[in-house]
Amino acid sequence: MTVRVRFAPSPTGLLHVGNVRTALFNWLFARQKEGVFVLRIEDTDVERSAAEYEKSLIDDLRWLGLDWDEGPDTGGNFGPYRQSQRLDFYERHTQKLLKEGKAYHCFCLPEEIEKERKKAIASGKMPVYGGKCRSISLEEARRKINSGDQAAIRLRTPGKGTISYDDIVRGTLRFDLNLVGDPVIVRSNGLPAYNYAVVVDDSLMKITHVIRGEDHISNTPRQLLVYEALSFPPPRFAHLSMVMGKDNTRLSKRHGATAVDQFEKDGVLPSALFNTLSLLGWAPPDGQEVLTKDELVRLFDLKKVSRSAAIFDYDKLSWINRQHIKKLALRQKTELAYPYMREAKFLPEKMSETQWRWLERMVEELAERVDRFSDFPQEAAVLFEFSPSGMEKDVKKELKTECAVKVIRLFAEKISRVREFGYDKFAAITQEIREETSCKGKDLYHPLRIVLTAKGSGLDLDKFIPLVEEGAKLGFPTSVLNCAQRVSEMLKFIDRT
Ligand code: GLU
Repeated sequence: MTVRVRFAPSPTGLLHVGNVRTALFNWLFARQKEGVFVLRIEDTDVERSAAEYEKSLIDDLRWLGLDWDEGPDTGGNFGPYRQSQRLDFYERHTQKLLKEGKAYHCFCLPEEIEKERKKAIASGKMPVYGGKCRSISLEEARRKINSGDQAAIRLRTPGKGTISYDDIVRGTLRFDLNLVGDPVIVRSNGLPAYNYAVVVDDSLMKITHVIRGEDHISNTPRQLLVYEALSFPPPRFAHLSMVMGKDNTRLSKRHGATAVDQFEKDGVLPSALFNTLSLLGWAPPDGQEVLTKDELVRLFDLKKVSRSAAIFDYDKLSWINRQHIKKLALRQKTELAYPYMREAKFLPEKMSETQWRWLERMVEELAERVDRFSDFPQEAAVLFEFSPSGMEKDVKKELKTECAVKVIRLFAEKISRVREFGYDKFAAITQEIREETSCKGKDLYHPLRIVLTAKGSGLDLDKFIPLVEEGAKLGFPTSVLNCAQRVSEMLKFIDRT
């Protein structure tokens, strides 16, 4: 039997960590079993659904690297793949259920139902429909409807006994049917209720496994009753635990970005987000956590998915992203870093060949320091911005030591006499200063680092010096100061203070 799974989002908002993880587990399972992954848009909530959300969720899934074999844009043998275009399927099955007496019209007004519900809650009972309209015959119902009454349609259920199923993640789950009541399958506006449409669709689309969030566990008994009434064999179910933040509360904006497109904007690699999401409630057998898509398809095991809450850890995402960045070719890293550098106005809209080569070298030196591509401007600031007045107090203090004063004066004097400065010249000058002042080690190098960077730590000077010397000649929108210019700015600052 071919495995057929689906991701069935409602286009009522952006794609978030929680639901994209559901999509990803479905996708991994489908690809591993060489099955079919279906995308179905559940847009029967007309007021909340919007075409833009459908578009953005499709873009986000694609960006993440999930592809589907059947869906609203790709088509397939079991379409259409938007619920709003499947109303005649629901209608046909509803008529069948009504004819067989398995469903009935309910004329109760929302206020009546609400009153009943409140009463039940007040007396500590589960609010279950009392069954007032159960005995209205189909003929009578049709007459009432013809005379203008509005009716919802409910499934006629046994109302007693239990129903159970075997959840792949949670084992056997049993539900008391008198707590379920007769669910509405078609609302009075003629649109199918979620619990009904989902069953008709999963059946007609021949879905074999329903993998979704545990917030749907309480819907499952209702859906099983619909399967039974329609004489469709139910699929296997796997309910994934909720995604939480590190503080064990449900993941929300409070914890950080949760929308997929925000991770994209922040310079997280799709492969890294993919990898991190795959670890939400599942772990590879050998504990290795940095994995490619192909490795994940091979290793993933739905049966090993944990039922305890999955924690989305932003630090872990950063770490995994760093590992994925490391694996990219320099060219790719540079292309991904460029937009952020341009945005920060460090680099121009159009880059010359030489500027591009310089950027490649910069990325090579800085890549190890970033967790995500959006960190590049901040790391590159040491090249593009030089601010003696913005120096930290401790750093400023270091300029006042006996050695620092001597070293800086000598360095300034010597650099002013050099035409083409570079790291070799730096090394030679430093050697001279050591001999002339007998300052050495940290006493010698630290003041020089501060003079050139206005910072107490950072990029090694053998990397830094060639980058600023060359960068200064490239006419960037934010000019890079060369070493001599930095020294003279620093001296002006020292003399002022
Ligand atoms: N449209 C439902 C949701 O987004 C789908 C639930 C299901 O997978 O059955 O929650």
